Order: sequence, then C-alpha cells, then structure tokens
Amino acid sequence: MTQDPAKKSGDVDLSNRGMLFKRGEKDVFAKVHKFVEIDMLKQANIYPYYLTIDRNEGPVAFAEGKEMIMLGSNNYLGLTIHPEVRQAAIDATREYGTSLTGSRLLNGTHKIHVELEEKLAQFLNKEACAVFSTGYQANLGVLTALMTKSSTLIMDEDDHASIYDGSKMCKADVVTFKHNDIDDLKKVVSSIDAGRGKMIIVDGVFSMEGDVAKLPEINAVAKEHGCRLIVDCAHAVGVLGKGGRGTASHFDLEDQVDGIVGTFSKTLASVGGFFAGDAKVVQFVKHFGRSILFSASLPPASAAAAMKALEIMQREPERVDRVNENAEYLRKGLNDLGYDTGISTTPIIPIMIGDEVTALTIWRHLMDTGVYCNVVLFPAVPKEKALLRASVTSEHTREHLDKALEIFKTVKTQFL
Ligand code: PMP
Repeated sequence: MTQDPAKKSGDVDLSNRGMLFKRGEKDVFAKVHKFVEIDMLKQANIYPYYLTIDRNEGPVAFAEGKEMIMLGSNNYLGLTIHPEVRQAAIDATREYGTSLTGSRLLNGTHKIHVELEEKLAQFLNKEACAVFSTGYQANLGVLTALMTKSSTLIMDEDDHASIYDGSKMCKADVVTFKHNDIDDLKKVVSSIDAGRGKMIIVDGVFSMEGDVAKLPEINAVAKEHGCRLIVDCAHAVGVLGKGGRGTASHFDLEDQVDGIVGTFSKTLASVGGFFAGDAKVVQFVKHFGRSILFSASLPPASAAAAMKALEIMQREPERVDRVNENAEYLRKGLNDLGYDTGISTTPIIPIMIGDEVTALTIWRHLMDTGVYCNVVLFPAVPKEKALLRASVTSEHTREHLDKALEIFKTVKTQFL
C-alpha cells in the first residue's frame, strides 16, 4: 500500500475491456496475454478483487493489517460468528465427518439434509424443500428440471447470473423484461405463443441495486397469463417478510408464488442453497435438476451451520428489524452527504459513482482509511455507471456506521 492511487490511477485505461472475448484467435490462450488491465490496476494499487481477509468478525473484518468496518458482506444477521453456529458446524464435523463424497441422488443424502429441508419448508410455508450445494446450483437445478423446449422463461433483465446461466443450460426460449417494469413484462408475456408453458423468475431483492421485486404486480401478470412464478430470495431471507421469510412473505404472497429459491451464503451464515415449493415439484427437481444429480452434496458442517442460523433467526427476530434500521441509518447518512444511493430500500446500498477509475480510487481510499466495501464495474454494470456496493448487518453499531459516514464525508470533499 505504498503507492498513491490518486497519482497513479490516471495511467489506467480500462476502455478495451469487453473486446477480449470478441476477437477471433487461433490460440485460445492468446487472449490471456492481452489481458493487461489487471496488471495496470495492480500497479496503480487499485485492483479490487481476490483480496485476502485475515479474519471476518461480522460487523468488522481484519485485512491489510488493520481492522475495518465491514460494509462488504452479505452476513445480514451477523450469524457467521455466532458461537452456536460455529459450535453446530464443529459438532456436525465431529459426528458425521467432513463430506458425503457423492451427489444427493446416490450416496450424498444425510439425515441432516433431510432435517434442514423439513425445517426450511416449514419456515417458508411450503410443502417441501430441496437442499443444494450452493444457491447458484439451486437456480441451475430448478431451471434445468422444469424448463423444456416447449416452454418460455421470462426473466427480469437484472436477475442474478445464476438464473442467466440456468436459462442457457435449459432448452427453453428465454425472454427478458426491463428491470421491475410491469408494462414491459405485460408486453413481453403477451407476445409469447399462448400454447407454450411459461415461467417468470425474478430476484426477490436485487443484489446490486438493493431494490425489491414488484411481486404483487408480477404475480397478477403471472396469474392472468397462466405463468408459473419463482422468486429467488437469496438476499431477501433474513431481511424482508415476517421474521425474515423473504419477499413472498413481505407481500403476503407465500401461497401465490410457485417456488422460492434461496441460499445459505448470506443470512444463513454458511454455504448451500435451496428450492422450496409443492412436494411434487420439489421431488421432480430432485430427480431432473442437473446440478443436484451431478455434483457432490453439501458437507454436514455447512448444513448444520445453516440449520442453527435458521433457528437463531426464528428465535431472535429483532435481528431482522435491526438490519433494516441500520440500512435506513446508513442510507440516510449517505444521502445527507449528497451521495446517490439509487433505488435501494434494503440493506444493500449502492453508491453511484460513474467513472470506473474514480470508483476504484475512492474504493482504495476507503480501504486505506478503514471501510471495507465492494466496487462494481463493467460488465456487472454499464461502463459509465461504476458503483460502490455497501451493505450492513444487524450487528453494526451506530459507532461503526458513524465512523464509516465520517470517512465517506472525507471522500466526498477529496474525490468528488
Ligand atoms: N441468487 C442470487 C440473487 C444471488 O445474489 C446469489 C449470490 N450472490 C445466488 C443466487 C447464488 O448463491 P450462492 O452464493 O449460494 O451460490
């Protein structure tokens, strides 16, 4: 951390990114030698990826030799460091070993998976649930099982990458509608041949903008046109709905949505994913979803940690209130300082910057002065719409948030 990014970052030119995969090359490795942007960013000390975190203590983390206020996690209820969650993972490893060494279908289903499925189904008011090894795989599994050549998948254009990847793996036609734009959704759905099977899939909370899917309107369109409806509540569980039950619960639509996808890698303080829905549908996904058939199951420690986190969330629903209060506090503080936080209404708070090198320079300054947050660049957002992505947990104190806001105040005068 010896260089001054403000001096060096002027040399960084990111304008050619995106061309790498377009040029035809005889040697498939040729592009790796042309990929110089990383070296440029490293030289200017503004390379923001694959950073090493020495210790993550929930609201704070230790990295680059110092303590930082952690505004870059998805640990919404701070449960990754909860003593009971840690102990559950240790006990499960002691009792059941480290891995089942196989897929759920064959030798990879342990009683702890089944117990977790039952508890999740009950929590989400659904008949059944399937546990996957990641949330990414849950989306691949649902889409590869349910969507066929004769059906059309309808996606919000800002849906998560795992939904995009699942849409490519299944054989269905795929159409997108403009982000949370119900008129466009109606237009898109109306243009699909009435004889085709249709399914709408949306993120419950959008992972970059931090806004919420307009589920009541989306559900109305789905019902009018005979579409199935699935909501990915990866960022909504623990944040929205009764006791953190997610977006469907938030809008009182649990009995209306056909399925809920989720992850253990955020509120539930572990790794893994799930799909909850009608028992017959879940059974089908468990037999035809490629990602559950051909990949090893979740280790017992991860299942045990998620199950304990689920239990604590239900026991201490005040954590859900606290994460939302903290989000409100930080968002208002940033807005008062003149920052544009877009359309966020959740603990995900984007801070719109625009120019990529400016965003990286600010990010470096934040890291140097004790705030850990993420920087989001093209292709995740358009080239001139770089942003910083901040997020809060229920365990941040007002002192943490005030200290972060003080640093953001300095950034405003120094860089913007
Ligand atoms: N869906 C959404 C909306 C997500 O944001 C994410 C992860 N960022 C996933 C799915 C994938 O979850 P996992 O990390 O468990 O693979």
